Amino acid sequence: MKIWSATKLWRQLRWRIISSHLIIVIAGVTILLLATETIQILTGSAGIQARVQALAEAQTSQLVEAAATKLLTTFRQTLFISLSIAALGAIIAGLFTAILLTRLILQPLEQITRSSRRIANGHYDERIPIPNSDELAMMALNFNQMAEALEQTEQRRIALIGNVSHELRTPLTGIEGYLEAMMDGVLPSDTETYAQMYQEVRRLRRLTDDLQVLSRVEAGQIPLTIDVFDVLPVLERVTAQLKPQAMAQCLELETEISHQDLNVCADSDRTAQVLVNLIGNAIRYTPEDGCITVSVTVKQQMAQISVHDTGIGIPPDSLPYIFERFYRVDSSRSRSSGGSGIGLTISRHLAWAMGGELTAASEGPGKGSTFLFTLPLAR
Ligand code: ADP
Repeated sequence: MKIWSATKLWRQLRWRIISSHLIIVIAGVTILLLATETIQILTGSAGIQARVQALAEAQTSQLVEAAATKLLTTFRQTLFISLSIAALGAIIAGLFTAILLTRLILQPLEQITRSSRRIANGHYDERIPIPNSDELAMMALNFNQMAEALEQTEQRRIALIGNVSHELRTPLTGIEGYLEAMMDGVLPSDTETYAQMYQEVRRLRRLTDDLQVLSRVEAGQIPLTIDVFDVLPVLERVTAQLKPQAMAQCLELETEISHQDLNVCADSDRTAQVLVNLIGNAIRYTPEDGCITVSVTVKQQMAQISVHDTGIGIPPDSLPYIFERFYRVDSSRSRSSGGSGIGLTISRHLAWAMGGELTAASEGPGKGSTFLFTLPLAR
């Protein structure tokens, strides 16, 4: 038990520093005592002892006085020499112990300095070993966590550049193709060709707009106007806006609302933006004669909006990734319909920023999908 508590104390930096000072003092004093004792022994026969002997053997008072003076002088000299040598020994021993202990304590700090310099130079895989002192171990752990976060940010940055250039390339290649075909006289310079080119330009514009929103939403810089409002009229407005699109694809768009009103605390425009994305996706990924149902319930102090469709569904291995930037289950299908693959990423960040959540569920391909969007209820 005692050993355990001593080890525990030694693991704390403050006790290490206190003990190291104590060790230095003890080492110094020990050397001082040992040196004084040794010098006394070495000079004993020729020094003080001989003078004491002479004093004891003195016959007259003059001889006693002379022997006493010599004894005093010899005593002073011996004390001065032994103390000087012992002090020198103690200084050297103390210095040596101090250097050793300081190195022991400073080693992890030097390691952190070296590693942070390496990270600053772009070596994001740098990690430091965990020292066995509690405070330093905590610092090393935090340092390693920071290094890992930086590494992930760097990886995301590289992936983002790759994805963005890939996404930009598709519409640009299209426009280039139309222009080349027109220059070679393969395609006529008529309204139809311009309309097709215009579609590609619009896709580019949508992508750049989405990217701008994404970067701001991910950085937590999207301005939100958080207010108490009734979510039901917002839902009705969005469904009314998207109904023609659903009807054009022979889809039924239903709402199931059992409340008179449902006040939430969020940003109404951003709420509408998320709903447009979810219902728009449901329309996009549901084949003809399918059905999309939007319902609202209350669960655990949250308003829960569910967008369910009878569409193509999502395979279980794709479900964990659909909220990631640029992830598409079937890239050719999404791309041809103009999807950038970042709508859900933006929606989830918006839901989080408003204190809500956005999740997806599907029983698999062909079995439809359900998206749950929650918002905090107004108190
Ligand atoms: P996109 O613009 O490609 O639709 P999103 O971020 O909105 O991008 O969606 C990401 C991917 O999630 C889509 O490409 C699609 O594969 C899948 N997805 C989203 N909503 C649905 C849905 N209702 N049914 C099936 N798959 C969906």
